[in-house]
Amino acid sequence: MNAPFAPSKIESVLREIEAREDQIVALTQDLIRFPTVNPPGEAYQPCAEYLGNRLARRGFQVEYIRAEGAPGDSDKYPRINVVARREGKSKGPCVHFNSHIDVVQTGAGWTVDPFGGEVKDGKVYGRGACDMKGGLAASVVAVEALLDSGLDLPGAIEISGTVDEESGGYGGVAYLAERGWFSKPRVDHVIIPEPLNVDRVCIGHRGVWWAEIETLGRIAHGSMPFLGDSAIRHMSAVLEKIEHELYPALASRHSDMPVVPEGARQSTMNINSVHGGAEEHEGGGLPAPCVADSCRMIIDRRFLIEESLESVKGEVIGLLDRVAKERPNFRYKLRELFSVQPSMADRNGPVATAAAKAVRQILGKEAEIVCSPGTYDQKHVDRIGKLKDCIAYGPGVLDLAHQPDEWVGIADMVNSAKVMAVATADLLTRE
Ligand SMILES: [Zn+2]
Repeated sequence: MNAPFAPSKIESVLREIEAREDQIVALTQDLIRFPTVNPPGEAYQPCAEYLGNRLARRGFQVEYIRAEGAPGDSDKYPRINVVARREGKSKGPCVHFNSHIDVVQTGAGWTVDPFGGEVKDGKVYGRGACDMKGGLAASVVAVEALLDSGLDLPGAIEISGTVDEESGGYGGVAYLAERGWFSKPRVDHVIIPEPLNVDRVCIGHRGVWWAEIETLGRIAHGSMPFLGDSAIRHMSAVLEKIEHELYPALASRHSDMPVVPEGARQSTMNINSVHGGAEEHEGGGLPAPCVADSCRMIIDRRFLIEESLESVKGEVIGLLDRVAKERPNFRYKLRELFSVQPSMADRNGPVATAAAKAVRQILGKEAEIVCSPGTYDQKHVDRIGKLKDCIAYGPGVLDLAHQPDEWVGIADMVNSAKVMAVATADLLTRE
C-alpha cells in the first residue's frame, strides 16, 4: 500500500506547474504549427514524432503505430499514432492521457494565422488550440511536473497522440483499442483532454444514427402531374409525421445523461438535407418540367443512453410504415449511413471522482458533471477497449471548437494541468 502524499509535496507540484506556464504555451504553439488537417491527414508523422521525442527524453518508452488499412491511410498520408509509457517505481494502476492530434480544416473568417500559434491577451490562437492541442500540452506538462517532483509514484503513466478523431477515430483510438492498447491490464483510467471547459468533468456522450430516407414516385410531364406520382409530396407526408409525431416524442424523453447544453439533454434529430426532383444546373437555363420520381432526406438522430440503436431505427421505420398505410402508392428506401453507440462512465467511478475532487481543490468550486452533445473517442475506449473508467477533462471552451480564430486560455491550461496532476497522483496511489 502506498501512503498518500504529504500535502506539501502536491503543493510543490502545483507551484512547479505555475512556473512552467511558458512551457505549456510554447508546447501548444509548437503543436499548432503542425498543420495536422483532417481530411486528408496532413503532417501526422512529424507531429507524432515531435511529441514522441519530447517524451522519450523524459524516460518514456515510445511506440509509433501506423493504422495500416484504416480509411485514408496511404504512404502520402500515413495514419501515425504515438503511445508513450513510463513505468513507476512499483506496481500499480496505469493512468492514460489520450489526445487527438488532428484538427479540422480552417475555413473562412480568420484574422490570425491559423497555424501561427499567436499569443495575445492571455490566449493562444490557432486551429486546434482549443480542440485539442492546448489540452494535450497541459497534460504533458502536468505529467512532467509530477515526474520531476520526486514523488515516488507507483503504477504507470501513458500519454498518446492519436489521429483521425475528427473523422470517427478509425485510424486512431479505434485502431489501437482493437489491438489492446486501451484495455486492462495495460490501462486502468483514461483522461481525454477534450475542451469541455476547465471546471467540467465529462463522463460521456450521446449516440448517433445517420440515415438517408428516399421516397419514390413516377416521372411525368409537369403540366399533367396527375399522370405521375410526386416523390416530393410523399416526402412532405413523411415530414408532417416527423413534425407532429416524432419530434414531440423525442422532446418528451428525459435522460439521466447530464448533457450540455441543456437543449441537448433530450433525444434530438436534425434534418440535414432534403433533395427532390431533377438536379438544378447552375447557369443551365430553365429546368425541364417533370414530376419528381425521387426525393432524398438525410437525418442525424442523436440518442440517449436509455435508448437502443434498434429502438431508434425501429421508431423511424414504424413512422414510415404508418405513412405507407395511410397513403396510396407510398414507397420508400432507407439507407443507414453511420452509427455510434452512446457512452457514459460511472460518475462515482475512480477517474470521474478523482477529477472532480481535483477541480474542487484547484478551482475552489464543485465540478459540473456533464455529457457531450457530440461524440469523441470515449466510445472506442468503452465499446472496443471495454474500459469504462474514461472521462474527458481539459481546458478550452467547447463552443470555440472548429470555429475561426479558435483559441485556448493560458490560465485555463495552467489550471487544468494542475487538476490533471492532482487527479493522476490520486489515481495512482489509491488502493
Ligand atoms: Zn476534439
